[in-house]
Amino acid sequence: MGAVIEVRELRKLYGTTVAVDDVSFEVDENEIFGIVGPNGAGKTTTVECLEGLRRPDAGRIRVLGLDPGADARALRRLIGCQLQESALPDRMRVWEALDLFASLSPRGGDWRALTRQWGLRDKHKAPFGALSGGQRQRLFVALALLNAPKVVFLDEMTTGLDPAGRRVAWDLVADIRRRGTTVVLVTHFMDEAERLCDRIAVLKGGRVVAVDSPDGLVSRFAPGVRVRFTADHADVSWLSEVPHVHEVGRDGAQILVKGDGPVLALVAAALVNHGLVPEDLTAERADLEETVLRLTE
Ligand code: ADP
Repeated sequence: MGAVIEVRELRKLYGTTVAVDDVSFEVDENEIFGIVGPNGAGKTTTVECLEGLRRPDAGRIRVLGLDPGADARALRRLIGCQLQESALPDRMRVWEALDLFASLSPRGGDWRALTRQWGLRDKHKAPFGALSGGQRQRLFVALALLNAPKVVFLDEMTTGLDPAGRRVAWDLVADIRRRGTTVVLVTHFMDEAERLCDRIAVLKGGRVVAVDSPDGLVSRFAPGVRVRFTADHADVSWLSEVPHVHEVGRDGAQILVKGDGPVLALVAAALVNHGLVPEDLTAERADLEETVLRLTE
């Protein structure tokens, strides 16, 4: 599958503020591609350049083979954008917004199906001003999907949703992809990125510090396994001779063994061989959140 988005050496300034310094990545067809990083890293600016909403100062962008600067009109028919800060007139009703957007879209989709999927069916007569934050958020995602886009950009899609609403949104995004749409997802939630994204670009200070799958990021940038157990007063310093063990220490009442790869199985076997059978033996790996923190600190 080919790249549907190509970004090369993208640079964007606001006055003298360098928002995006040097960003390059590719998004493959039908991927869910995440963009993460701390506030001010340049995520939204990057996505707005891809959507044709901002003009880069340098670099080359192609989205579905089009240049978002020069071919903005053509591109708008093919992509969907859920913007981070959107607003509609307070008195506009949900169905009116959907109907209006559908009428503007050449491939104007069935907005009734979207209101069902995004849990807005009971709200379709409600005015925008009376919607909760989560309902507004779901309406903006539904609006972004109205033209059955080939690529959809979701910027902090689940901000403001409650935990149940987030899970529903995740399932819907997975479903959007199953129907053949490529998804670019800007998010602050690492559980969301870990769960949904095939690959993730980590941004910091307007630069890409890493692009990889969630597992790839963890194993490249925060490798290692920590094994813990309680051993009362037994001397377990001999564990440092066990293959794949790097360090044996204490953490409060527990023994903490740092290692890699199959260290848990090897430590467990060695303990049993020495007549020790701790009941609380556990292993932890860094998760994506810890990895991204390490990469962007
Ligand atoms: P992120 O989405 O990762 O939080 P942004 O792309 O919003 O990052 O912002 C990147 C940098 O550009 C920040 O320093 C931010 O303050 C600045 N910035 C963003 N939008 C504007 C704007 N409209 N005018 C001036 N500076 C901006």
